[in-house]
Parts: sequence; structure tokens; C-alpha cells
Amino acid sequence: MKPEIETSRKSTIISKLISTRIKLEELIELSPEEAAYWDKPGAVTNLPLKINTSYSRLIETHQKEGSVDGASPDPIRIQTVPTVHELNILPYETGDPLGEGYYTPETRLIHQYPDRILIKVTDRCAVYCRHCFRRSFAGGTAGDISASEIEHIADYLKGRPGVNEILLSGGDCLTLSDGKLASMMDSLADGQKERTFRLCTRIPVVAPSRITPELVSLLAVRKPVWVATQFNHPRELTFESRAAITRLLAGGIPVVNQAVLLRGVNDNVETLAELFTTLVAVGIKPYYLFQGDLAAGTSHLRVGLKRGLGIVKELRGRLSGLAMPVYAVDLPDGGGKMVLSEKDFLRDEPPEHSGGVGNPDGNAGSGGISGWRVFEGSDGRERFYPLENC
Ligand SMILES: *Cc1c(COP(=O)(O)O)cnc(C)c1O
Ligand code: SF4
Repeated sequence: MKPEIETSRKSTIISKLISTRIKLEELIELSPEEAAYWDKPGAVTNLPLKINTSYSRLIETHQKEGSVDGASPDPIRIQTVPTVHELNILPYETGDPLGEGYYTPETRLIHQYPDRILIKVTDRCAVYCRHCFRRSFAGGTAGDISASEIEHIADYLKGRPGVNEILLSGGDCLTLSDGKLASMMDSLADGQKERTFRLCTRIPVVAPSRITPELVSLLAVRKPVWVATQFNHPRELTFESRAAITRLLAGGIPVVNQAVLLRGVNDNVETLAELFTTLVAVGIKPYYLFQGDLAAGTSHLRVGLKRGLGIVKELRGRLSGLAMPVYAVDLPDGGGKMVLSEKDFLRDEPPEHSGGVGNPDGNAGSGGISGWRVFEGSDGRERFYPLENC
């Protein structure tokens, strides 16, 4: 879609924040699978519904341009509108698919790799993504990080000069106010000039107007600062989101992208090739393409590992090194980040193998699993990832 079209239409589109079924039904006619989500007990205790004005506008645009009934697959809608499939939880899916709990020395702090730490600075996001691997934390009850939690983490950092990167994650770190963000960064930096901040945020994609000149200046005086964002589909590269990226780059803040491989959204070579080449043209380095994590209720959004490897192989044959991200997975149970290739794994096991979980019934969504791929985790222990047929 050409950005000009979107800008010219903006005035005719009614903007809304969507957080209830009623609001959602004002925006779209729910498909049977979407409607069924709301009719099931338990749905309301799941990751909340939240689609902000800017992102819901993209759904609306698709409706107007797409099929009359609005039922043609919309990659934005798939990422944000819950379906009943979320309530289908597989035996090997969990609320903590990365095993972050093993590496949490302080509340909100994850220290899994020696030279970098990650802080969950808030559980708020501008939009809740249905594929979120931290979906049991996001939109929950934790709220924003408190002054005393910041103090504890700052103390933890004092004794650890080997930590040279601080990842501000969440939730979405840019839902914090400018004031809170600035004071937190100052407490954590503690005068150390060589410590790099990495802001992990979907805000440039879903709420680009939050990237104000004031925010950019605030970050620019606290360099080194990098932004890691998450564009998953070329349609997310709107006039507004490109402008937000341009503001960051003009402020001297480099931007990288961490896309998630998502079924029905970007699980084909054409879409990903367009996404990555456009990102490069905008000035964003495609950094990771993540294989889906085993987060509870996300199997319908995952792409089978073997199919993912096939897509990535084709992409590598087409794209420049600059445009090509690293295909990786966060291994279950604290196994760490693992670069995925057709060769780098220990072995495959048949579906009957327990795969490290108590109750394997070989039932992954509709397709079942064809086995388990066994990887060596960063601690030398074996980790099993299912070979799903999707
Ligand atoms: C992914 C991740 C990082 C960052 O890893 P990179 O490979 O540097 O992007 C740091 N800490 C935790 C806990 C992570 O999950
Ligand atoms: S913005 Fe990030 S943390 Fe928030 S729901 Fe989306 S993926 Fe999860």
C-alpha cells in the first residue's frame, strides 16, 4: 500500500481504542472463531484485548479495501484479534516458555547472558499481540517498575562491570512516561558511559506518534542507545511509522528489527523478502527472525520448524546480507537463544518421546507433531523443540 493513500484517507476513518468485545464489533464483524473466544469461560483471564487507534486504523483500511465481508485474512487482525484457538493449550506450552524464571535474581530482572541484562520495566503495551511470548506477564497486574525496584537493579549492576548492555523490555518500555524513562535510565547508567541501552519496543510500529522530538532528545543525550522494534508485515511500514523511524535515526539512535515468524501473517518468502528489503530501505537492520516460542495458546500462530527452515533457506538465496536477519529460537526451559539452521542440532526424536514434558499426546493443533528436534542448550543440557506440521 502506498503511504499517500493512507494519509489521504485518514480523515474519513473513525479512530478508536479497542479493549472490549463491543468495541471490537464496532470495528469488524467477528468471524466464528473470533466470536467463540468471547463465549468461552476463561477467555477473559487471558492476555487482554487492546488495539490502539493507530493500529486499528490499519484493520479498518484493510476492511475498506479488502473483501466486502471483511473476512479476507488480515495480517494486522491476526496479530491483535483473539480467536478461540488461544484457549487450546498444548502439553508442551507454558506461561514461561523461555524459562526466564531461572535467571531472575531481582524482581523484573533477567540475567541469562553474562554481558547483558534484561529488565521488564512495565507490563503495559500500546497493543497486545496475540503471539506474545510473555503473554502471561503482559497486560497483567505488575504495572510499571517502581523506584525501589529500579534501586535494587541499579545496586545489582554496581557489582557487575561486565554487563555492557541493558535491555529495557516489558511489556513495552516506551509506554513509560518520558520522565520515568529518563530517571530510570540515569539510575541504571550510573555514570558508566560504555553501557549501551537497548529499548525493546513495538511502539514505532503500533504507536509511532509516541516517538516525539522530546523523546528522541531524551534518548539522544543518554547514548549509547539502540532501539529494537518488531515489524512483522510490510503493511506495518506506514507513512507514520517510517517517519517515527526517521526521527530516531536523525537523533543518532540506530534501529534494528526483531520479526516473529507468524502463520497467516508473514509465513511466505514473498512477504518476508518485501518486509526485510523495505526495512533496509527505511534504515532498519533486520536483526532476528524468531521461530515461535512455546507460549501457552499460541500454536495456531506458529510455523512448523522445518517449514520455517525452508522459507529461510530460500530467503538467504535472494536477499543481501544486510537484509537477511538471523533465524533463531529461544529454546524452552532456559536453554537460551539458538541460531537455527538445517544442520545445527543434535538429533531428532520420534513423536512418542516425552520431549521433556510430562504428557505428550502428539497433538499440536490440527496437525499433530512429527517428532522432536533436540538442541544443546547454552548450559550444555539438551532441549526439545517440537516438529509441528504447520
Ligand atoms: C534475547 C535476550 C537477550 C538479548 O540477546 P541478543 O542475542 O543479544 O539479542 C538478553 N537477555 C535475555 C534474557 C534475552 O532473552
Ligand atoms: S508489544 Fe511486545 S510485550 Fe507487548 S504484547 Fe506485543 S510482543 Fe508482547
